[in-house]
Amino acid sequence: MKPRDRLRIAMQKSGRLTEPALELLKRCGLTFRQSRDKLFCFGEGEPVDLLLVRDDDIPGLIAQGVCELGIVGRNVLDEFRLTAGRESEPLAELRPLGFGRCRLSIAVPQEFDYREPSQLSGQRIATSYPGLLGAWLRERGVEAGVVTLAGSVEIAPKLGTADAICDLVQSGGTLVANQLREADVLLESEAVLAGPQSLPADERGDLVELLLKRLDGVIQVRESRLLLLQAPRAALEAVTRLLPGGPQPTLLPVAGQPDQLMLQALCAGEVSWRQLEEIKKAGAREMFVLPVEKMLA
Ligand code: ATP
Ligand code: ZN
Repeated sequence: MKPRDRLRIAMQKSGRLTEPALELLKRCGLTFRQSRDKLFCFGEGEPVDLLLVRDDDIPGLIAQGVCELGIVGRNVLDEFRLTAGRESEPLAELRPLGFGRCRLSIAVPQEFDYREPSQLSGQRIATSYPGLLGAWLRERGVEAGVVTLAGSVEIAPKLGTADAICDLVQSGGTLVANQLREADVLLESEAVLAGPQSLPADERGDLVELLLKRLDGVIQVRESRLLLLQAPRAALEAVTRLLPGGPQPTLLPVAGQPDQLMLQALCAGEVSWRQLEEIKKAGAREMFVLPVEKMLA
């Protein structure tokens, strides 16, 4: 097999997305031989290799055809789509991945009484996301100065180089430490699988399809729970009505107890203690909530 018959996935070498991305790929059945201090990891089972790079470089590497897929924050992908030249290969968000959640937000000094975007007119806003911020301001007809900084955006107001900032926020702790508060949200972000808008028409395209199917299974499984319980036939309707997400349960007879049934249901999402207690009140007993290991629909 020629080297470029193999699929390449770029991901962050070291940072917030590294561990969850590797874990996700592992769950998709991909394992890699090289140690992680190298840039390149050779895939063992499937012909899929890894490139470990800075997250900011990932969209560019896909656009240049150095790799076919990348795991990167929506914030980085969308910024690239807005700022890349028109000649650059258009990129697509193939799947949201459910980790690395954060928001790209406007934050203002505590004493700034922010109510609406128009108050930002004539102000200087520091950001590492000039593309996303510029588009957001334009859509709202706000003319503000955009000060582009590579990092440490949150100290710009204190230094007097900006009046407000536009930066990533997760808990808001960094903002509080800098006497800032979140005023408006531009983008809800999470890690995504990014790829070219048109996939290669060779084996690599088929590998992407295969990977997407496995990924869908992994994501669905991660959010699924198998609920098992016993209930008297008479309570069946009441119990079924309380099942989270309203799945259609499978019913099985219980040996030696003709008026009892065992019920099995695949629920989308967490089943809480409170829901279990409600279901128990409706007549159920012997209840189990099990994680789902693998699923192929
Ligand atoms: P490098 O450029 O060296 O790869 P980085 O410093 O740009 O690393 P991280 O801080 O690890 O990157 O963040 C990577 C991604 O994690 C961000 O682009 C964003 O999508 C997501 N993220 C989640 N929460 C946060 C947060 N609180 N602050 C910054 N990024 C966050
Ligand atoms: Zn980065």
